[in-house]
Amino acid sequence: MIITHLNNILYIGIKYMRIIKSINEIRTIINQWKKNGLSIGLVPTMGYLHKGHGALIQESVKNNNKTIVSVFVNPTQFGANEDLDKYPRDIENDSRVVEEYGGDIIFNPEPEEMYNKNMTKVFVESLSNKLCGITRPTHFQGVCLVVAKLFNIITPNNAYFGLKDLQQFTIIKQMVEDLNFNIKINPVAIVREESGLALSSRNVYLKDEDEKQSALSLNKSLNLALKLIHNGECNVNNIINHMKAIILEHNNTKIDYIKIVDSNTLEDIDIIKDNNFYILLAVYVGTTRLIDNYSNM
Ligand code: AMP
Repeated sequence: MIITHLNNILYIGIKYMRIIKSINEIRTIINQWKKNGLSIGLVPTMGYLHKGHGALIQESVKNNNKTIVSVFVNPTQFGANEDLDKYPRDIENDSRVVEEYGGDIIFNPEPEEMYNKNMTKVFVESLSNKLCGITRPTHFQGVCLVVAKLFNIITPNNAYFGLKDLQQFTIIKQMVEDLNFNIKINPVAIVREESGLALSSRNVYLKDEDEKQSALSLNKSLNLALKLIHNGECNVNNIINHMKAIILEHNNTKIDYIKIVDSNTLEDIDIIKDNNFYILLAVYVGTTRLIDNYSNM
């Protein structure tokens, strides 16, 4: 692995993946691309890239002339007692993944490049104060702020978001509509291990085989819910009780929430009447908080 710094650009590896750290520099490159009539796809990430991120990059590469992957562990989306400092980072491996999937540039700014002390707030209130927003009350404000900034810096034609973070996807769609960003938001299906576990950078926190087994309970409970619904069960309480039971059969699990909601408003529903519902859950396995969901997107 060769790593060199040239004019604030970090080149890594055989094909010299360009890692840009400054807003001015990425803008210069983008201006040139736009002058040449090239379309741009953006894949916002916090790094520690895996095949789930790879699917987003692949989708962008397929549909745009150039793909920028932002790698930014965004401090504003972490609460005071959350895992900002210990969040896993590995920019060398990230470069390999972006290269493997055909991305063009990594945008990897330092927090000082992105933020000053008294930042504007971007808050999609009605969709942010429920589900994950209850345990993480400032999380989605941080997500919206960084995504809005990335949209203004990169001005992509398309941006790609994983359905793994379904509430985030719903909020970003709403923000783009409300603030008239001229950017198409593209959903990408959840990528899972063969075991059914949704890929996540936070899976490295799972301590041992026992915790890995317990992590499978999220997907197992979703599959059970879908089976019940398929067999005609439409009472949400009954479905959630079955999901709870299967999760709590596993060691060291603590349920944060399990919800079945209307897919437009994210409001709780009592009865499943049509296909416009999401099932979302967050579960602690040991000290690791995992999320998963079902949507028919
Ligand atoms: P993160 O780096 O965790 O902030 O994720 C960056 C983007 O990758 C988000 O849009 C996530 O929804 C998406 N993503 C993360 N894991 C997966 C996965 N297993 N399948 C699909 N998309 C994912």
